[in-house]
Amino acid sequence: MIDKKCICEETQRHFLERAFGRLKLKGAQRELLLSSFRETRITVPVTLRHNGENRLHTFQGYRVQHNHARGPFKGGLRYHPDVNMGEIRALAQLMTWKTALVDIPFGGAKGGISVDPLQLNETELEELSRRFCQKMAPIIGVHDDIPAPDIGTNPQVMAWMLDEYSKTHGFRTAIVTGKPLELGGSAGRLEATGYGVAHLTHKAAEDISLKPEQSRVVIQGFGNVGSHTAIALASKGYKIIALSDVNGGVMNEAGISIDHALAHVADNGTLMGLHGASPISNAELLELSCEILVPAALEGTITCDNVEAIQAQLIVEAANMPVTHQADERLQQRGIVIVPDLLANVGGVLASYYEWVQNLQQFPWDRETVLSRLENRLSRTYDAVNILASERQINLRCAAYELAIRRVEQAVRLRGF
Ligand code: NAD
Repeated sequence: MIDKKCICEETQRHFLERAFGRLKLKGAQRELLLSSFRETRITVPVTLRHNGENRLHTFQGYRVQHNHARGPFKGGLRYHPDVNMGEIRALAQLMTWKTALVDIPFGGAKGGISVDPLQLNETELEELSRRFCQKMAPIIGVHDDIPAPDIGTNPQVMAWMLDEYSKTHGFRTAIVTGKPLELGGSAGRLEATGYGVAHLTHKAAEDISLKPEQSRVVIQGFGNVGSHTAIALASKGYKIIALSDVNGGVMNEAGISIDHALAHVADNGTLMGLHGASPISNAELLELSCEILVPAALEGTITCDNVEAIQAQLIVEAANMPVTHQADERLQQRGIVIVPDLLANVGGVLASYYEWVQNLQQFPWDRETVLSRLENRLSRTYDAVNILASERQINLRCAAYELAIRRVEQAVRLRGF
């Protein structure tokens, strides 16, 4: 089995070292930008019901606060069995570059618990989330560190955390983003990441002269990001020919109805058995003949093992770090365009920023306002990256890292860290 910890840290390190070299950053400057401000590891005890008996179980929880030169730490909370400090550290760093790239006043953080949330019932999940929040309370805060949902967590988890934090700090809606609307969540936040992925996919597709109606799209992962990307791309006229979740994939060369797929998942909890589509494995799905491939599940899905079989012309990294650095190099050599994660899925943290702003001002915006501001800011960010890439004759990933690192490095220098 591939070691996820190695993949994330190695991949992130490689992309950063390359950018540091081009920006001519030296030893201590590099070290400051690479090292975490704080890495916290906790044990979370939860009483689980097993075979009719109550048993105390412990889970490992993590929060890495990478850099806060430009504002409070910001980043998601992941519940997944593979969560470990190395993965969370790499994802926290990535958040620092994302918030800088899209130019919002946040730093970068990430948290997680090594747990399979599907094995826990609702009561156990609530206890786990509340205990995690209690133990993390001293280091999070409305102007210090603001968690959000990621893989395996959702608005309900954020609601439990909001409630737990508010017991000792007073009602603080801005302590988490990605909350339910009823508790100060933002209109448009739930779909924002996928909506942004689709918007940037469309811009990148236009740049390589791909027309929606002639473009076959394959999406791996049909959770929050994958499903909303599919909805938004389908509404722009793209043909979605394959989708997948953790159980496997489904395909139909003539196109899959996204409404039909959503209804099937709502009834069955999985895409498997979708009427009118043939089953395929997740590995086969990545290698399908298509114009656009959107990995929207986990990191490390495109590696040296499958890179030669990839047939897409455009890869949009909706997931974080889905392409290893070795595979990235090979894809670039083959002329395949990649919209990198720090740009592709930045709509999520951008909408989280809008939610935080609305909470602080106690003045909610409507969905159209949120999504039109999101689109404008994403377009500006994409254009800035694209222009730098053409000027310097580098790819979009290199350009995005350069823009982001330059902003963080300036803030670090001005603050005198
Ligand atoms: P999610 O938990 O809602 O969905 C994950 C999807 O991936 C599910 O369909 C799941 O079945 C599938 N999956 C899990 N393991 C898989 C495997 N081994 N093979 C194939 N599919 C698998 O998570 P999400 O919020 O949609 O996040 C997806 C990715 O996007 C992650 O990399 C996350 O870090 C990134 N991301 C999410 C957000 C956000 O706002 N939710 C923002 C930025 C980036």
